[in-house]
This record gives sequence, structure tokens and C-alpha cells, in this order.
Amino acid sequence: MTYTVQGEPGEVFDIELDEDLKRANETIAEENRRQLQRHGVCAVDVMGSVGSGKTSLIEQLVRLLKGRYRIVAFKGDLTTRIDSERIASLGIRTVQINTGRECHLDANLVKKALAKVDLGSLDLIFIENVGNLVCPASFDLGESERWVLLSSPEGDDKPVKYPEAFLSANALVLTKADLLPYVPFDVDRARREALFINPRLRVFVTSAVTGQGLDELEAHLVASLGSLRSRRA
Ligand code: MG
Ligand code: ZN
Repeated sequence: MTYTVQGEPGEVFDIELDEDLKRANETIAEENRRQLQRHGVCAVDVMGSVGSGKTSLIEQLVRLLKGRYRIVAFKGDLTTRIDSERIASLGIRTVQINTGRECHLDANLVKKALAKVDLGSLDLIFIENVGNLVCPASFDLGESERWVLLSSPEGDDKPVKYPEAFLSANALVLTKADLLPYVPFDVDRARREALFINPRLRVFVTSAVTGQGLDELEAHLVASLGSLRSRRA
């Protein structure tokens, strides 16, 4: 048999339960959103576990889009610059956001990163969140697109286990589809259970290695930028 232990309300040492902090985050997120909207810039919050393929997906999309769109990438990481250097090698600007010990980005960190770029000369911002399927979901950054990544080696049970991430996103990007022949991952199950949690999710099955699904994701992003700009007009 399996025993279960559970923290009582107020017992878990989790700063994110603080309602004042959440409200403060929401206020700054709205400011970020208004600022991005005013400049017609579409920001994408890319969430997913450690190793789900966030950096690789961003790299491939930057390759597809950088000839036609002006892009920067914000990279959330605890302390290293490895990912920003990978993206910067593609010839776009990056802003490293080191969170220290924090396991998620928040609106204030993104606000500071926004101050480092010229929004008037930008179209797209990819914001790579810290690798984690849990608390990034609770922090609105002011983005207009929020993607949750799920890679085939992680397993198809993640939507059920981490529903908040799937509930807060507008797109589910299944990654590493090239590994599907080798891992026990049921795409239909993941899709069905994610859509049960959040029926408005757009689902993309992708591989950064073979390029599968990237055209559709690119088209979705371009359409999202277009609709953001039409709301501004
Ligand atoms: Mg990364
Ligand atoms: Zn966190």
C-alpha cells in the first residue's frame, strides 16, 4: 500500500501562496501587457520542465522567423548564461534573466528585461521560463501567448499531474516527436487529457530535430501577432 502525507493550509513553506505577492505580480503583469500592446509586440511565455526542449524550440522558431520579424529572447535561468549564448549565436539579441534561487519568472523580472530593449523596434519576444511545470503557471508575465511544452520522454501523464500549467496556457506544444517510436508516449491521451483540462488549448506536435509541426506553430504565432496589432489599431 501507499501512504500519503499532505501539508495543511499555511504549513507549506511556499512564498507563492502569499496573496499580496500574487496581486503585486498581477499589477505589474498588466503594465507589461499594456506596454507590449502599445508597441504591437507579441511576447510568448515558453513554459516546460527541465529538458523539455524550450531552448531548442525557440532556436528553431528564431531560425524560421528572424528574416521577417524583429525578435529578442529573454532567458530565465537560475545562474547560468548557457541558453542565452545558444540563442545569441543565431544573431538576435538576448536578455539573460538570472533568478538566483527562484524557480520561475515573475512580472517584475520581465519588466526589468523589457527596460533593456527598444520595444519600438521589435515584433516578437520569446520568454524562456525557468524549467519547471509547477509555479511558472501561477505568474502572469504580461505575455499574449503562453505555451506549455511537453516532451515525449517526459510521459503522457503530465497534463493530469500538473493541470495548472495546462490550464493557464493557450497552446500545448508536444516536443521531441522524433522520439515517439522509442518511448511509451500516447499522443492521443496527452491531447485528450490536456483538452479536458483546457478546451481552448491549441495542440502542436513538433520536433526541433526533424522540423515537424514548426510551420504550424510559426503560422499560429504570426496570426497571434496580427490579431494583437489589429486590436491596437
Ligand atoms: Mg533552456
Ligand atoms: Zn517557483
